[in-house]
Amino acid sequence: MSTVTEMYGSLVFNDRVMRERLPKDVYKAVRKTIQNGSHLELNVANSVAAAMKEWAIEHGATHFTHWFQPMTGLTAEKHDGFLSPEPDGSVIMEFSGKELVKGEPDASSFPSGGLRATFEARGYTAWDPSSPAFIKDGSLYIPTAFCAYTGEALDKKTPLLRSMEALNREAVKMMQILGYPDVNRVLATIGSEQEYFLIDKDLYKKRKDLLLTGRTLLGAPASKGQEMEDHYFGVLKPKVSAYMHDLEEELWKLGVPVKTKHNEVAPSQHELAPVFETANIAVDHNQLTMEVMKKVADKHNFACLLHEKPFEGVNGSGKHNNWSLQTNTGINLLDPGKHPAQNIRFLVFLLATIAAVDDYADLLRLSVATAGNDHRLGGNEAPPAIVSVFIGDELTEVLKSIEEGTAFHEAGKTYMEMGASVLADITKDTTDRNRTSPFAFTGNKFEFRMPGSSASVATANIVLNTAVAEELKKMSEKLEGKTVGEMEAAVRGLLKEMIIEHNRILFGGDGYTEEWVQEAAKRGLDNLKSLPDVMPRWISDKCIELFTGHGIFTKVEIFSRYEILLENYSKAVHIESLTMQEMVRKDFVSGLIAYMKALSEEAALKKQLLPDAACAMESKVIGALDEASCKLVTLLDRLDQDTREAESIPDALETAKFYEANVLKDMAELRAVVDEAEALIPEGYLPYPTYGEMLFSLR
Ligand code: ADP
Ligand code: MG
Repeated sequence: MSTVTEMYGSLVFNDRVMRERLPKDVYKAVRKTIQNGSHLELNVANSVAAAMKEWAIEHGATHFTHWFQPMTGLTAEKHDGFLSPEPDGSVIMEFSGKELVKGEPDASSFPSGGLRATFEARGYTAWDPSSPAFIKDGSLYIPTAFCAYTGEALDKKTPLLRSMEALNREAVKMMQILGYPDVNRVLATIGSEQEYFLIDKDLYKKRKDLLLTGRTLLGAPASKGQEMEDHYFGVLKPKVSAYMHDLEEELWKLGVPVKTKHNEVAPSQHELAPVFETANIAVDHNQLTMEVMKKVADKHNFACLLHEKPFEGVNGSGKHNNWSLQTNTGINLLDPGKHPAQNIRFLVFLLATIAAVDDYADLLRLSVATAGNDHRLGGNEAPPAIVSVFIGDELTEVLKSIEEGTAFHEAGKTYMEMGASVLADITKDTTDRNRTSPFAFTGNKFEFRMPGSSASVATANIVLNTAVAEELKKMSEKLEGKTVGEMEAAVRGLLKEMIIEHNRILFGGDGYTEEWVQEAAKRGLDNLKSLPDVMPRWISDKCIELFTGHGIFTKVEIFSRYEILLENYSKAVHIESLTMQEMVRKDFVSGLIAYMKALSEEAALKKQLLPDAACAMESKVIGALDEASCKLVTLLDRLDQDTREAESIPDALETAKFYEANVLKDMAELRAVVDEAEALIPEGYLPYPTYGEMLFSLR
């Protein structure tokens, strides 16, 4: 194909296509729905459906599908043909407004956390006109929300849209109070940077653990790791570069604004970042990105690993969630402007966000908790499980001046001294970056770094949007009714109170150190290390009040999600345990025995030839492997028993806790023995590739 501008969005039923193809009044009605979330009449839907069908067929589509995001964290789709048979034996292509607006997938096999007994298997999908339809693999994809027969949300999009509405309501109200009468819509914006690994597909296929669980459950470290720091931003290898190029083209056609690509810290790890978009579109696009990444990888004979911790001892992958708020008048509410200390509007939204993170840190932690991400959070390269906020030196000073009621002196522009006159002068940022903070202010947005690479970012943004909406609501209540003359002093008074109250969440030091763990405990901040640790918070009164108060989740929906998250966790660890047992019993042990046999035979032959030969090396290795095999027998039995016991526990939380405290611990001990022995066994004896082969083989 052609230039980027021609390619971009060529498979998307976007605003430009709608303007061209829809009757004027229909176009206006759809725009109104998209912009204000207003209801869409059936005759409008019929007209849109007709135009969509024509356009889709012209672009080679034969089917349509309602595309939704059930609680599996993946996307789901069921395809229907446009075709409709005629009495004379021919077919016509049909697609009605009703089919566009509502779908009825047989949804009994999606996780519902007990919401939907099987006799109420009906689920509905409802068109989300705010996220554009697109064509992929010969089908027209219609983004939809997914709910039960009884109306409860069964997906991640419905609550995300509800949270955006709540935030819009409270942010608009605050803007009215602050004297911005033109602001009638505020939307959350998100840019999610996506990290991933690429490894050779043939090697991938030989690893049952990667195939079935997404991460390696065994594997001694390679002799080279990431200590040389030679991969980050390094030159892209030709094969990887070709992959990235293809990936970009595929995503551009789908209207996903990917912009940045580079190598990441770990060997074979890379990152891709899009330009930010409205929250629900960004979430849809991130789901699409993950899917296309895997598909394109396959074509290039790669496997794309999205797991949060595919290799032990090597950096894991996350999904930095850049978040801000944008008004209909084009203001970024987290833009400090040139004079942050005077920018009341900015300070209000900054403090609302800081307060939200402090008051709901546990729910933010929960929003990123999965069996996979638990291996990453708290590792020495990932943000710790303790939630804190970094705002940088300048804003720290600004907040201090408000707290103390003193004047803030701006540092003024400083220019960097680069020592070479050919280099253009560049202004220095007023603060350095902090890469260890889980929630960092980065100039004109916050970057939440805890989300895992494989999960949907919907949940993190549902929590963030709702928590900020709640803080804004509390703030508005204190400011409402003040006259214009009183307002500035009232806001400054409120900000001061909030700074004092939420100071404890602000932290600018190194979040990876043990000192911070101690300090955070003193400050009363939570350090919730695993999903089972944090789940009880989800059904706490505080959580229920927050979400029901803003109409995000009903109590029933909260409890259903509680069950689903716990079940997903236990199932993930269960599958890992079974996979590991199988790999050790069948694959590893056969290699171990074969090598011991070869060594013994070799030593015996040597003795025949040289009766006095010491066979020191052989004896030492055989001895070590024999010791390992004794330990393996015991550890495998224990893992097997504990896994069975976990399965028999009736309560979902207790089950998950048992998996965490016992099964994962057994797996770690088993792994230690296997990995130590693996280091003694030559590569050819094991039927699966080593860390060294997987991480350093791409040329
Ligand atoms: P870095 O994290 O290295 O500072 P960038 O400045 O390129 O990188 O931004 C990273 C991500 O933040 C990009 O996806 C970008 O689109 C997104 N971003 C920038 N501005 C906003 C905003 N106002 N709201 C949400 N995301 C934003
Ligand atoms: Mg970043």
